[in-house]
Amino acid sequence: MVTEVRMVAGRMRAIRVEGEGVGGLAWVAGQQVRVLVTDPLEIRNWRRPRDFLRTYSVWDLDGGLELRVLDHGDGPGARWARGLAVGDEVTFNKPEGQFVAQEGAYHLFVGEETAAVAFGPMIRGLGEASVHGVVEVAGAEDRLEIGGEVRWVFRGERSAAESGGLVEAVRELQLPAEAGVAYVAGEAKTIQMVRDHLVRERGWPRRAVLTKPFWTPGKVGLE
Ligand SMILES: Cc1cc2nc3c(=O)[nH]c(=O)nc-3n(C[C@H](O)[C@H](O)[C@H](O)COP(=O)(O)OP(=O)(O)OC[C@H]3O[C@@H](n4cnc5c(N)ncnc54)[C@H](O)[C@@H]3O)c2cc1C
Repeated sequence: MVTEVRMVAGRMRAIRVEGEGVGGLAWVAGQQVRVLVTDPLEIRNWRRPRDFLRTYSVWDLDGGLELRVLDHGDGPGARWARGLAVGDEVTFNKPEGQFVAQEGAYHLFVGEETAAVAFGPMIRGLGEASVHGVVEVAGAEDRLEIGGEVRWVFRGERSAAESGGLVEAVRELQLPAEAGVAYVAGEAKTIQMVRDHLVRERGWPRRAVLTKPFWTPGKVGLE
């Protein structure tokens, strides 16, 4: 059951869910849950079965599940989050996924608003490890408190898709000479551009760059 809904950044809503069994779920920072965002008991929703589920990173799971959902505009996930109120029931599966912290000399996080939701708990879990990063958001009000040596860049009105601005910000980063482990998430095409930069321009091994596409224009529910 939803116990709290609050705005935590410009367009980012924190949603806390508590209930029997929720607190006992096993979880690794960086994992995600799949949430039922449209009602399968409503016949009209069966016209768009791909809209039943949307995926959200776990921000915290400490007796309750906390998600952070970006109000990007229109879509079943965005509408679900906007419409939630305390007392609503939420159906979701257990946390899963391989986009989790790895061993490395240092850790590099690159992404946008939605990626920052996965990065927050990953960075918290890394403790004293060396963390670098760039997160591109629309404006200063969209920053989340994720810790680490993360640089925030602002795209203003530009699209988050195929974001040359984010690649440029990564290019400008002063990183140690040897490769670390990179975690690149968010819009699918931007992720490819960032990975190409790390592999081709900085000479990082491909396996040192973990990628996780969260969304891309024209597609729905990437996972
Ligand atoms: C592993 C994983 C973890 C994720 N974690 C989070 C999370 O923690 N928080 C979160 O908010 N989202 C997260 N997402 C994205 C989320 O699953 C949905 O894709 C997103 O909420 C959009 O769903 P929707 O139903 O509103 O729109 P959809 O119907 O899925 O998309 C419609 C259109 O909206 C546009 N769109 C979708 N997302 C964005 C965006 N972020 N910015 C700009 N335009 C967009 C695109 O043009 C898309 O084609 C994650 C996705 C994955 C795969």
